[in-house]
Amino acid sequence: MTSAPPTIEIIAVGTELLTPHYQDTNSLFITQRLNDLGLSVRFKSIVGDGAEDLESCVQTALKRSDWIFTTGGLGPTEDDRTREAVAAALGRELIFCPDILHGIESLFNKMGVPMSSSNRKQAYIIQDAEILANKNGTAPGLWVTEKEQRIILLPGPPRELEPMFAASVWPRIQTERSFYQAHKVLKMVGTGESSVESLISDLHPHDPRLNLTMLSSPGQIEIHLTARSDHNENEAKELVEELAENLQMRLQPYLFSTAGEELEEVVGRSLLQKHMSLAVAESCTGGLLGHRITQVPGSSRYFLGGVQAYSNQLKIELLRVPEQQIIQYGAVSAEVAQSMAAGIRNLAHANYGLGITGIAGPDGGTPEKPVGLVYIALESDHGSVCERSVFPGNRDGIKRRASQKALDILRKQLSSSSREDAERLDG
Ligand code: ATP
Ligand code: MG
Repeated sequence: MTSAPPTIEIIAVGTELLTPHYQDTNSLFITQRLNDLGLSVRFKSIVGDGAEDLESCVQTALKRSDWIFTTGGLGPTEDDRTREAVAAALGRELIFCPDILHGIESLFNKMGVPMSSSNRKQAYIIQDAEILANKNGTAPGLWVTEKEQRIILLPGPPRELEPMFAASVWPRIQTERSFYQAHKVLKMVGTGESSVESLISDLHPHDPRLNLTMLSSPGQIEIHLTARSDHNENEAKELVEELAENLQMRLQPYLFSTAGEELEEVVGRSLLQKHMSLAVAESCTGGLLGHRITQVPGSSRYFLGGVQAYSNQLKIELLRVPEQQIIQYGAVSAEVAQSMAAGIRNLAHANYGLGITGIAGPDGGTPEKPVGLVYIALESDHGSVCERSVFPGNRDGIKRRASQKALDILRKQLSSSSREDAERLDG
């Protein structure tokens, strides 16, 4: 066994994938599953159904890659040519396989429809290829071994490809890879990339078996850690855990997950554990916060609902924001955010009420109240909190950052009330 990782390439086949109407999601699925095993993809291409293009694409892949995955073009129609192209590139024959034909015939019998003569084509396999059963369609997948190289042909429809990959491809790759890998993601909120970097600058690993990558998206920083071992999985896990622990100690105030969850899941779980409920009043986020909270299955157990109170009138009439406050401080102000939070909390009879008001832009900013200015308030039995932020970015980014900040304010409140409870119990 060599410890060098294989060069991996994916070829997504289909002329429709070269139009703006269809997306190649199969390669993302395959990449994700390979990454889970600690394997990275080096090359990826999308090629139309034309025989010559397809063959030259496969030939290029054979020159540079150890493992090649193709998706699509295994069907019965004239434009399904992946089998032919791979066979031609390898200089192998296509062999008729009666067992496959019987399988396809019995599938059609079961459905009570006559088999089209074009399906016969699917019973041809590349010489010496192994067949990967397709439980959800007629096209079998193929696993071709050419010396040290592997070419794996998978069907196009995701509902056929994904179960086939899980049943016949993943387990095999898992045993064939020559090393072990462990992976961990630390997710943070309420800080920026450069602040995180300065906190952990001396912890970047020098050990070649370890890798640390920092990724940022609006309102969130992630540190992805991977460790590799040539010996066993435990060694990789221990390496990654040791590094993660050191990082966690530095990043504690910002860290919300080490298990891959989203912020809304973490906050939701905490509300559920405390038997607490939440309602939200959103202006500039336009429902994004409510949407994120309700993306979590089971959120109805703690989320009572929300309103998008865009107009002053709705803020006044529904949320009971005093009109005088809007006149005196403006709709984008700490006072109004607090009244919105209190208003929705009362209206919904919730333990926690969040209120958001701000200027998402691109228009509407002034020197005193620039685009990106957002007030976020939280009302609860623990009192009231309001934070002022000026977020950078475009409309989408500002909305995302504001929803993130709102969840973070709630997260901090929930964890400080847990600490208070613990102290009370101790004392
Ligand atoms: P079939 O037997 O259905 O013809 P096939 O293996 O020949 O299967 P294609 O004809 O290439 O596959 O694609 C069938 C359908 O599968 C496409 O219309 C598309 O909806 C979906 N599909 C194909 N390739 C991809 C891809 N890379 N990502 C996501 N979906 C895909
Ligand atoms: Mg097809």
